[in-house]
Amino acid sequence: MTLKKTIRDFTDWAGKRVLLRVDFNVPLNASGEITDASRIEESLPTIQYLQDLGARIILVSHLGRPKGTVVESMRLTPVAKYLATALGSAFVGKTETVVGDDVQTRVQTLQDGQVLLLENIRFEPGEEANEAGFAKQLAALADVYVNDAFGTAHRAHASTEGVAHYLSPALAGFLMDKEIRSLTPLLKSPERPFTAIIGGSKISSKFGVLSTLLTVADTLVIGGGMMFTFLAAQGFGIGKSMVELDFVSKAEALLKQANGLGKQIWLGEDLVVADRFAPDASTQTVSVCSIPEDMMALDIGPKSCASLIPIINASKTILWNGPMGVFEMPVFANGTKTIAEAVARWTKEHHGFSVLGGGDTLAALELFHIGHERFTHVSTGGGASLEFLEGITLPGIAVLDDATTLITR
Ligand code: ADP
Ligand code: MG
Repeated sequence: MTLKKTIRDFTDWAGKRVLLRVDFNVPLNASGEITDASRIEESLPTIQYLQDLGARIILVSHLGRPKGTVVESMRLTPVAKYLATALGSAFVGKTETVVGDDVQTRVQTLQDGQVLLLENIRFEPGEEANEAGFAKQLAALADVYVNDAFGTAHRAHASTEGVAHYLSPALAGFLMDKEIRSLTPLLKSPERPFTAIIGGSKISSKFGVLSTLLTVADTLVIGGGMMFTFLAAQGFGIGKSMVELDFVSKAEALLKQANGLGKQIWLGEDLVVADRFAPDASTQTVSVCSIPEDMMALDIGPKSCASLIPIINASKTILWNGPMGVFEMPVFANGTKTIAEAVARWTKEHHGFSVLGGGDTLAALELFHIGHERFTHVSTGGGASLEFLEGITLPGIAVLDDATTLITR
């Protein structure tokens, strides 16, 4: 992955109309209020930088999955309300449609430093289909393209990929740039030892990234629900624990590959097992090789945690994606909480390079009141960061102009 030109590499902003793709796909509650505005907050520096230099900004985002048609509950009205407060009078509002005469008029009347928000881009069928005609229509609104929507960069849609073919320059915003700069070193030049801690529920959704990480990391730690597919591959009984049977042979191949590479795949020492998937289940701590037949493992145990701490402390680089257990229930939250605290502490005390990702991993941090500032980088893109770390070229990044300088840390 080459480094991309950013909004700092272009200086002639005054009076320029900028199509700025952001990821304002924020969670809403039943009354349509934003419950977590961090996705908006993360792109405010990009917006304000361009405003200060006199650009005329056209914001583009999707919200939810309206699938190419207008869905009233997915209008960007709550986002517009938030922006009005955050940006003040420079925010001139939201359009009613994505394209059309009214949009043209409002774009034409934009003044330097003003910001306009287009309606939910996924109301248009041409967006997800990445239709050239629709991409050209979008491009006609602006002079310059900026992409700050890292969380959507793994999708080749009209506003994330197609449009960039018709606008020049095509640049990365600050958030996009930060994601690229933080994730690239993990694959290209990690300071070693590099420990990758992968948990969560489904091995099927993370198998690709596990394969790549096995080759680039020094130690691969497997926790969460995907552990049991590996334990099954080793021939251990896993009781009623989560398993994906069609991945057992793939897990076995990965274990063999690790052996061949002389690398360790960590699967822990003990586990917390329960008789039911419930917060008040009766629990027991057992060794990883003796899960009772009628029980399910829902967290890593205290011995596992104790064995992970020295691995964490001896690392120079750590990637963590995916909870170690069913952290949503307090009785099964200890593993995830211990790892979160240990990685945060190590980041500070050892000046470690820590990168976190995953929607539920971030939810766990929130629940434990562990701030993002305690890590080097907390990625905003769940699926996008996994694909990036798998080594896949993300279409929304590939299409941006290449920088001439090489990446440095
Ligand atoms: P992320 O969003 O951080 O990438 P995932 O979506 O892969 O993480 O997985 C998160 C989910 O995995 C959580 O809801 C958690 O309850 C579940 N999980 C973790 N460990 C287990 C386990 N042992 N058994 C069942 N589910 C688990
Ligand atoms: Mg998830």
